[in-house]
Amino acid sequence: MTDAALTPKQAAFRAEYKRNIASWYNGWGHLLSIFVPGIAVIAWCIHKIHDPTVLEVVFALPVLVFYNFNEWWLHRNAMHRPIKGLGGILMPVFHRHTHQHHQYFTAKVMTYDTNREWRIVLFPPYALIVFMLMTLPAALIVGFVWSANAGYVLMMLTPIYYLNYESFHLCCHVHDNAFVRNCPLVNTIRRHHAAHHSQPIMMERNMNLTYPIADWYMGTSDLERGLLGHLFNGYSTRYVKAEFREDQGSELDASVKPA
Ligand SMILES: [Zn+2]
Ligand SMILES: [Zn+2]
Repeated sequence: MTDAALTPKQAAFRAEYKRNIASWYNGWGHLLSIFVPGIAVIAWCIHKIHDPTVLEVVFALPVLVFYNFNEWWLHRNAMHRPIKGLGGILMPVFHRHTHQHHQYFTAKVMTYDTNREWRIVLFPPYALIVFMLMTLPAALIVGFVWSANAGYVLMMLTPIYYLNYESFHLCCHVHDNAFVRNCPLVNTIRRHHAAHHSQPIMMERNMNLTYPIADWYMGTSDLERGLLGHLFNGYSTRYVKAEFREDQGSELDASVKPA
């Protein structure tokens, strides 16, 4: 269904990328290497939380919003711009995302066919470990200064958000199906991200990969509507700004009624 839109350059890149995936690579193994440690940390934190106060639970909200802006910032900067500082540690992130992921998937050809292609969708397993290690000092400080419960809440939100990110991003690149088409929030991010994969706008539009909150607030969304409308937009192209109408992802078109 997508082959017609596959340009010769993209087809060649895909073939070459697939050839270079190690023979021992296994998509499910990759997924489990992220989800097992992530779920283990979440379960451990939940086990440690006892009788949380309302404030300790509500504390999760500003943290999640902060993570949403973090996701926006990291995608817009580390993943789409070459940051040469910090000893070049972020350059592979830029190369992997802008040069590889965005060439493998374009708005016109957004989907993969086999689990081996999860290699180009999921982050390497160490990314979650790095994010959790970055959270740990803050969680310890919150734990000592405020309460142990709040520290554990903060600690578990990192894997929760990250697993949410990876799941949603995978949903953006699967072939269309009843779940991704109808599940609220998932269908929203699918259209949002398909539009992001449009090469002319990928550097500055639709940077969120979970919920388009930061894109709405920062004015980097391709939609012209309010926050709730952004969150529950689904596949609709009705509110897409005129200048971004053209390249909304041909794989969504079949199930999207024109505006
Ligand atoms: Zn993507
Ligand atoms: Zn991107």
